[in-house]
Amino acid sequence: MKNIDNYDFKGKKAIIRVDFNVPLDKEYNITDTSRIDAAIPTIKKVLEKEGTAILMSHLGRPKGNPEEKFSLKHLTGYLSDKLGKEVQFVDDCVGDKVKEKASTLQNGEVLLLENLRFHEGEKKGDEDFAKQLAEPADVYINDAFGTAHRAHASTAVIAKYFPENKMFGYIMQNEIKNMDKLLEEPKTPFTAILGGAKVSGKVEVIENLIDKVDNIIIGGGMMFTFIKALGGNIGKSLVEDELIDKANEIIEKARENDVTLYLPKDAIAASDYDKDAESKQTNSYDIPEGWMGLDIGEEAIQKFSELIAGSKTILWNGPMGVFEMPNFAMGTKAIAEAVAKATEEGAYSLVGGGDSVAAISQMGLADKVSYVSTGGGAMLEYIEGKELPGVKAIRE
Ligand code: AMP
Repeated sequence: MKNIDNYDFKGKKAIIRVDFNVPLDKEYNITDTSRIDAAIPTIKKVLEKEGTAILMSHLGRPKGNPEEKFSLKHLTGYLSDKLGKEVQFVDDCVGDKVKEKASTLQNGEVLLLENLRFHEGEKKGDEDFAKQLAEPADVYINDAFGTAHRAHASTAVIAKYFPENKMFGYIMQNEIKNMDKLLEEPKTPFTAILGGAKVSGKVEVIENLIDKVDNIIIGGGMMFTFIKALGGNIGKSLVEDELIDKANEIIEKARENDVTLYLPKDAIAASDYDKDAESKQTNSYDIPEGWMGLDIGEEAIQKFSELIAGSKTILWNGPMGVFEMPNFAMGTKAIAEAVAKATEEGAYSLVGGGDSVAAISQMGLADKVSYVSTGGGAMLEYIEGKELPGVKAIRE
C-alpha cells in the first residue's frame, strides 16, 4: 500500500476526497471550521511535494441537483486563507469544464470541485460517475473518515481507477491507528462507557466489544431499556420496548464472557423533558410514575469514576444524560473529568461518536483525552468490526 509520507507527488495531480461537510449560516459563513482545519495537513503535504491538489467533498443533503445553499464555493475564501494561497473553484465535479480547468493547473496549485452530491451518481456509487471523477487525476487520496462507511463513488468506487496510486490521508491514517489500538491487544482493564439516547444503533457495538473489554458501563437514555429488562420501574423514561429481549441477551452474553456490565444505581429524574423541569435524585430501578430519568445519580458517578480510574484502556461513546440541559449535565461532566484524569495517569482513552465529541468539547476536555474520533457513524461501524468500504477500497 502506498503512503502519503513517501509518495512522490512531484508533477502529479492528486484528487483528494475530503470531508468539508461544514455547517453554514444564512450568509454562508462557516460556523464550525474544524473539518476543514483537520484536512489541511494532507493537502499541504501534496503541495509541499510539488503536486497539485484537486479537492472533492459533499456538503449537506442536496437531492442530486445543484442548490446554492450547498455550494462548495462558499468555502473557497476560508480555505485560501488557511492554505496561504488562492484556491481555484469549478462549478461542477465532473465533465469538460473540470477537465479543462485541471489541465491548466500548475504544481502547488489547488482546485476545489463543486459538491459531489449535486450528481445522483455519487451516493449510488455509480461506476461511470466514479470514472469521470478519476479522469483528471494521477493519484487518489481518501481523507474523509466521516464517510468511509459509505460505498459512494468518491469514497470507495473511484479507488479502482488508481490500482497502484491510492492511499489514505492523515485523518484516515490517524483514525484507523487509534481505533486499532483499542481493538487489537488493548491494555487491561479495558472499560467501555456507552451512553446516548438509544440502544438501537449501539447493539452491534456492544456485541463486538463483549469479548474485548473487561467492563461495560451503560448510561444515558439507553440505560432504561436495560433497567426495564431487569424488572425495574422506569416511569416515563426513554425506552425501546422492542429491544428488551436484546438487552437481556446482552446481559447474558456479558456474564458468559466474564464482562461486568454496570448500570447506574441512581438517576436524576425530572417531571418533564425540559431544562427547567422539577428534578430529584432517585433509585434508577424505581423511577416514580410520571417521572423520567435524564441523568445518572451521585452514587453512579462515584462508582463509575472509580472504575475509570482503575482502567488502562477506555472507550467512551455517548453522553450519560441530557447534557445539553445544564441541570442534567452533571453525569456527563463527571465522566469526562474521570476519563481526562485517568488519561493523565497513563490510560489510553478514545472518545468518539457525534454527541460525545460535542460533550467533551463543551466541557473543555477534548485535549485531555488520548484521541477524539470525529468519525461518528464510521467510527461506530469500525468498532462493530465491519470493514468500511472506504478503508477496504484503499487496502485491497
Ligand atoms: P446519541 O446520538 O445516541 O449518542 O444520543 C445523544 C443524545 O442522547 C443527547 O442529545 C442526549 O441529550 C440524549 N440523552 C442522554 N441521556 C438521555 C436520557 N436519560 N433521556 C433522554 N435522552 C438522553
